[in-house]
Amino acid sequence: MVFILNPKVSKEKIDKFILGWEQKGFSTILSVGTEHTAVCLIGNTAEVDLDHVVQTTDIVSYGKRITEQYKAVNRTVHEDNTIINVGDISIGEGFFTVISGPCSVESEEQITEIARSVKESGAKILRGGAFKPRTSPYAFQGKQAQGLQMLRIAKKETGLPIVSEIMNQTQIDLFEDVDIVQIGARNMQNFDLLKEVGKLKKPVLLKRGLANTIEELLMSAEYIVAEGNSQVILCERGIRTFETMTRNTLDLSAVVLLKQKSHLPVITDPSHASGIRSLVPPLAKAAMAVGADGIMVETHNNPAKALCDGAQSLDLEQFHALMEDLKKRAVLEEKEM
Ligand code: PEP
Ligand code: MN
Repeated sequence: MVFILNPKVSKEKIDKFILGWEQKGFSTILSVGTEHTAVCLIGNTAEVDLDHVVQTTDIVSYGKRITEQYKAVNRTVHEDNTIINVGDISIGEGFFTVISGPCSVESEEQITEIARSVKESGAKILRGGAFKPRTSPYAFQGKQAQGLQMLRIAKKETGLPIVSEIMNQTQIDLFEDVDIVQIGARNMQNFDLLKEVGKLKKPVLLKRGLANTIEELLMSAEYIVAEGNSQVILCERGIRTFETMTRNTLDLSAVVLLKQKSHLPVITDPSHASGIRSLVPPLAKAAMAVGADGIMVETHNNPAKALCDGAQSLDLEQFHALMEDLKKRAVLEEKEM
């Protein structure tokens, strides 16, 4: 149940209202937006007489029952779009933020060369996996802590903020200088990890699981926000279907639905979604057309020699061409790039 408060209610009155519910055994979520302030009740609200509360409480404008299990990430509770800021970079409605970089950090030269080039092309954030979740235990597992150090160097060289995947909660301290922590598809329902990143004061990029529903993705985001970290970016990265010609199937409806159901920014990953380099530019443009707030694209200075995911990586020129195309389209879509 959510109560939308009247405009300009004092903090004291809001605190008193919240305390009243908490004393009755409810948990609450306070959502302060630019348009309105809302208080959401979590608990058994079946017995609460919504009309009675609205009529007898002078600070409440109106109330609504929320049928969905996700509350804090629900647009009903928080109507305004959440915009996440990383330095002077914004992610959310009105922006089309491009994250680019290799699947894996391989060497200092590799990551710095790619970082310089994608920055030049207009990417705003550098990606690079240091801890790699590989299907085979015999495949390259990433440069790990050393990889994070190389990313830090590329960040220092270029000024680009960095995003990298965390695989478990013991790695939290290693991610101190990482601007955005990525939770990969395989960890979308690692609830202990979600709770840990929920305690961080930095954005979390949460990728949809290979076989998870849209609602499950929202519930995973709810885990993070419920711990106090509201800076969650949702990522549609393709799901498993019966199709075998693509690595995954990009679910563009999910992008639209997620943006309707939630106030959180939504980006897509056309690289993992398709697994095929030639599909990446068209899918990136499609993402922009359906209203995504950005993309994460794998880019490599020598895709043929990449230690991971070379077949879906754009080379630096292809990435540049894609960016030029997207910049033109962004004008029509009224998105800042
Ligand atoms: C990645 O982005 O490096 C990655 C492993 O992606 P996903 O978790 O979507 O498979
Ligand atoms: Mn990859």
